[in-house]
Amino acid sequence: MIVGRAFKQTCKLFNQQQARIVFATQGLNQGIKEADPQLNEIIQKEIQRQKSTINLIPSENYTSLSAKQAVGSIMNSKYSEGLPLNRYYGGNQFIDKMEILCQNRALELFGLNPSEWGINVQAHSLTPANFHVLTGLLQNHDRVMSLSIEHGGHLSHGQNFKREKLSAGSVYFEILNYGINEKSGLIDYDKLEEQSKYFLPKVIFGGADLYSRKIDYERLRKICDSIGATLVVDLGQVSGLVATKILPDPFKYADIVTSATHKSLRGPRGALVFYKQGVKGVDKKGNEIKYDFKNKIENAIFPGSQGGPHNHTIAGIAVALKEAQQQNFKEYQQQVVKNAQALFQSFSQKQYNILTNGTENHLVLVDFKSKGINTLQLIHLLEQVHIDTYRSTLPNGKETFISSFLALGTHPMTTRGCTENDFKTIAEFIDRGALLLKELSTKQPAPTSAQEIQKWAEQNVQSNSSLQKLQQEAASFVKQFEVPSI
Ligand SMILES: *Cc1c(COP(=O)(O)O)cnc(C)c1O
Repeated sequence: MIVGRAFKQTCKLFNQQQARIVFATQGLNQGIKEADPQLNEIIQKEIQRQKSTINLIPSENYTSLSAKQAVGSIMNSKYSEGLPLNRYYGGNQFIDKMEILCQNRALELFGLNPSEWGINVQAHSLTPANFHVLTGLLQNHDRVMSLSIEHGGHLSHGQNFKREKLSAGSVYFEILNYGINEKSGLIDYDKLEEQSKYFLPKVIFGGADLYSRKIDYERLRKICDSIGATLVVDLGQVSGLVATKILPDPFKYADIVTSATHKSLRGPRGALVFYKQGVKGVDKKGNEIKYDFKNKIENAIFPGSQGGPHNHTIAGIAVALKEAQQQNFKEYQQQVVKNAQALFQSFSQKQYNILTNGTENHLVLVDFKSKGINTLQLIHLLEQVHIDTYRSTLPNGKETFISSFLALGTHPMTTRGCTENDFKTIAEFIDRGALLLKELSTKQPAPTSAQEIQKWAEQNVQSNSSLQKLQQEAASFVKQFEVPSI
């Protein structure tokens, strides 16, 4: 009997354990196809859409399989508030190794000496990274100058000419915008210098969202030095071109440099924040003066605005930074610029105005307004024929000077293998789309609200044989250029 009871108890225990195991892992080892068919279907549709779309959006790119594997890894499960070797949680020996590797690769990629530059890789994206920098350096109501959104500046640098408070930065700090000369399209450094003398900003932002020319960092440094301001350079979309030395080196002049990781660097979505450290100079008595950015920036990120770092993302960024150190990455960025030149030449031959009448980076700003074309209508029509494009407006949808242009970037399609001739074909497609839009709207004016335009564009593609032809040609063209790693 005793033996029997013991046997029963053992069985009960065994069943309980079995139940616990089943409960703990139920469904967790299933692939997304079985576990969530509804979401999986959406993802599959997005894959098909991306494959069949000519992507000219200047801020987008495609990430490698290895970087995506890192992003999908177990690094996601670990909390690691703090910095490497100085954490608030146990169990971070490998997370530390990973984050230090990521930091070192970022410094190496831009040829920086760790005694002169520090780096943080934890910011969740570039908009928050820029806000961390402002909150780290400034007190409430301190002054900042930045390129206006109407002229191609980024929202995260502040606001617009009307001083509407559009971003968090503009709520807490006083921002004055500088601009471009609308004729030449070039940044008006003289006016910036003049205004800085009475506005006396503590920070000047260099860098833009949509600017197709080199930025004169040396000039910005001089202006900052003359008024004792800190120079923050936001590399945004052009960091790959800077890392490969195709564009000038901002690190010679800047105090702080920020960059996205998911644009020209082809990594997962995130940001890099570099800050100067070490000896700045000597005072009159011969004592060393040191940069004091490190604590300000690090503390602004954690505990200032963020909690646990996204370790899976940092792991993916580390992979992308390794890829960016390879020789073929340099060749890639060189091709990006050649392709932008080809795009510029094609539009120029078709008598379009191009802002700054050229380009020195990945970006071509094509003026459609002067051709009598509404850029919002054009974007939606092009979407119907497998071409994704971008124009900049204010967040409330209000048009500005820069909204007259489509901002076309060559990074994503160059990743997919397009060269100069392919970009000539792409320019041809866009020009045909623009002419068809004009033709259609002379018959019947196109609507102006985004939702109605979308419907209007869909209906026109169904009923217009020239648009259908364009759609078919673009679809068969884009098939030649695979999206990597899907
Ligand atoms: C894209 C961009 C940003 C914002 O990046 P997010 O990661 O989308 O927040 C900020 N500044 C510049 C110059 C950019 O191009």
